[in-house]
This record gives sequence, C-alpha cells and structure tokens, in this order.
Amino acid sequence: MNNYDYIIIGAGASGLLLADAMGGDSFFAQKKILLLEKDSKKTNDRTWCYWEKGKGHFDAILHKKWDTIHFEGKVISKRTQIAPYSYKMIKGIDFYNHFLKRIESYSNITFKQEEVVNLQETSTEVTVQTQNNCYNGHYVFNSLFNFKMATQQKQFPILQQHFIGWVIKTEKPVFNASEVTYMDFSIPQKGNTRFMYVLPNSNNTALIEYTLFSEQLLDKEEYEEQIKQYIRDRYQCEAYEIIETEAGSIPMTCYDFRENHTKRIRYIGTAGGWAKPSTGYTLMSTANKIPKLVEYIKKGEPLKKLNLKNKFWYYDVLFLDVLHADNANGYAIFESLFKSLSPQKVFKFLDEKTTLREDLAFINSCPKFPFLKAFFKRLF
Ligand SMILES: Cc1cc2nc3c(=O)[nH]c(=O)nc-3n(C[C@H](O)[C@H](O)[C@H](O)COP(=O)(O)OP(=O)(O)OC[C@H]3O[C@@H](n4cnc5c(N)ncnc54)[C@H](O)[C@@H]3O)c2cc1C
Repeated sequence: MNNYDYIIIGAGASGLLLADAMGGDSFFAQKKILLLEKDSKKTNDRTWCYWEKGKGHFDAILHKKWDTIHFEGKVISKRTQIAPYSYKMIKGIDFYNHFLKRIESYSNITFKQEEVVNLQETSTEVTVQTQNNCYNGHYVFNSLFNFKMATQQKQFPILQQHFIGWVIKTEKPVFNASEVTYMDFSIPQKGNTRFMYVLPNSNNTALIEYTLFSEQLLDKEEYEEQIKQYIRDRYQCEAYEIIETEAGSIPMTCYDFRENHTKRIRYIGTAGGWAKPSTGYTLMSTANKIPKLVEYIKKGEPLKKLNLKNKFWYYDVLFLDVLHADNANGYAIFESLFKSLSPQKVFKFLDEKTTLREDLAFINSCPKFPFLKAFFKRLF
C-alpha cells in the first residue's frame, strides 16, 4: 500500500509543476506517485512575478500584467515600455488551486497532507517518514529547502534576497496602475543593497515590498517601519489598510546544490539550486527546468546534468562576490546598468539568452573596478 515509484515532497512551485508534468506524461501512467505536503495550501502566501514575451506558461491564472517598468536610482529615474515583454503577476493561491485541481485528475498521483519528518535511504529505496505514516519510494524528489544545505562551504558567499511585502488599499488614488516600480533605490541604503518594489493592481491598491540583497535578515519591525515611511514619503499617504502580507528569504549563491543529491533523493526547486543566484527569480527557471527533469527521469539519467555551469554562472559568481564585498554600494551596479541598458536587454541577459557581444555590452555597463578586483581575487 505504501510503496511508490516516486515520492515528491512539497506541493509548492516545483513539487506541483513536477507532479503535473509527470501526471500528464503517458510514460508515468503505470507508475505510482505520491505528493506529500504539510500545508493545506489554502492561503495566499506569496505573489509570483516574472517577465515573459507574449503568451506564456501561466496566463490562465494571470492576476495582472504591466507593460512599463519604473527604475528609480539615486541619480536616475527611468520609465520604459518593455514590449515585447510584459511583467506578469500570479497569486500563490491561484497557482495552488489550479495545479492541485489538475493533479487530482491524475489517477496515478496520490496527494496527502502530511508533514515529512525524516528520510532514510537504502540501496534500493527511500523511506519517507511523516508524523503518522511511513512510505517507501524508489526515488524521492525533495523540495524542502534549508539554508544549512549551502552554509557548510566557504567557496561561495551566501546572500539572501529577503523582504516583507504589504498589499495595501489607500483611501485616495495614489498609484499608477500601468507601471511596476521594479527597483527604487532612492531609499536609505544603511550599509546594504536595499530597494522598494511596488506592484500596483489599481490606483489605490498595491503590493509594496521592502527588499534587501544582503547577508543578514532584519527584525520584522525594521522592514515594516521602512514600508510605512516609504508610503508616507513617496505617496504622501497616511490613510490605508493592510489587506495582505508576505515575507520571504531566497538564497543568492553560486554554491552547487547538486552536491546534495544522493542516488535516490534528488532536490528540486530552491533546494535544487534553481533560484537564479544574482536575482532570486525562481518560478520561470523552475518552469523551464521541469520538462528537462522529466526527460532525465524517463531516461534514468542523473539530475546532475541540470544546472550545468555556463558563462552566466561565472557572471553570477563575480556579481555576488562584488555584492558581498561592498554591500552598501550594490545600488550603484543596478543604477549603472539601468542607465546604459534598456530593461529588455537586462531581461534577456538575466534569461541567459544573450550572445557574447551582448554580454560585453552588459559587462561594459557595470562599474569596472569592483568587478576586476573580484575577478582577480577569484583567479588567484
Ligand atoms: C513570498 C515569496 C515571494 C516570491 N516571489 C517570487 C517571484 O515573484 N518570482 C520568482 O521567480 N520567485 C519568487 N519567489 C521565490 C520562489 O519562486 C518561491 O520560493 C517558490 O515557491 C520556490 O518553489 P519551491 O518548490 O522550491 O519551494 P516552495 O514553493 O516553498 O515549496 C516547498 C513546499 O514544501 C512544503 N513543506 C515544507 N516543509 C515540509 C515538510 N516537512 N513536509 C511536507 N511539506 C513541507 C511547503 O509547505 C511548501 O509547500 C518568492 C518566494 C517567496 C517566499
């Protein structure tokens, strides 16, 4: 009864997308698949945003999209139309409902709301222990992320993209609902790389996130105080209600998470190192990796092939070295980039689709000295 071919742990972004891809593929029709999740997934615990050209992956559950990006630096202020891209938003709850419903329709997948407490691997199977049960699987795909997975090593710095966000509803119309404030660095940096991120749904509702790219988390009060101050200063607004809140901490590191894979336990999602090291964007990287992962599973190939180091990995290493060495001046890199390049060029680079010539234009737009210093430090 409790034996499965595959056990997926965690019904978050990567677990749901993997289960859905396996459920929809006839190769797995005779396989038994178990999806274990500790939460009910009935709350809107996060908002996902990403850029995309034209129609895309999650349009059926799209909450909002924007065609203009606003970048605010210490010395520049730029608003740019981003066609052919759009900046898209989906709500966590819509994503969970949509994919859980699809997964319910696959007869070979069983979903159980149980918290996993232990994993034990032998040469032939993995025993997954939950609070009340034990399950055996030939292979486990584990999306449980823990910073400790990366902190034992010293080769690569580990920063975090950490934030608290409030969805607020203001009494008066104060937002421009047609543009996203992608990064606002005009706020005090206080020794770190800190910015505001504003996603307006209408002229009186928006998600406002106070975000840092840094090593240490702040006290909750500090994020909240900065959001309050920003709403007051930027929008001259004191009358609003907080409708929803969210918080997150996404790893920013070039550490190779594939080192954690074992013969029968493979890590996926953030735990698999699928968060882009330099930005923390994970959703689209997950959506793009899942079809490749499914092919590897079908061919019985090792997952180590996913995330092969390419030139962008090396760029991310240098970027994170620079950000780590001089966290207070991280804003200057972004300001320099957005001053010289269009958001379209930045998106293409972050999507890892640029040619060497385009990379050089990107590199040329960054402050030279800190990157050369980081380069030579890595070299010797
Ligand atoms: C608030 C927030 C906003 C984000 N916004 C963006 C964004 O805009 N764009 C972007 O690209 N990325 C974003 N990210 C980063 C990333 O896309 C998400 O973290 C994404 O959910 C990662 O997917 P995952 O499958 O690795 O982890 P998760 O989605 O977190 O899935 C892990 C699942 O495991 C479950 N679980 C945990 N412990 C156990 C246990 N012991 N037993 C069973 N189940 C367990 C959890 O409940 C969860 O459902 C955001 C992250 C957060 C936290």
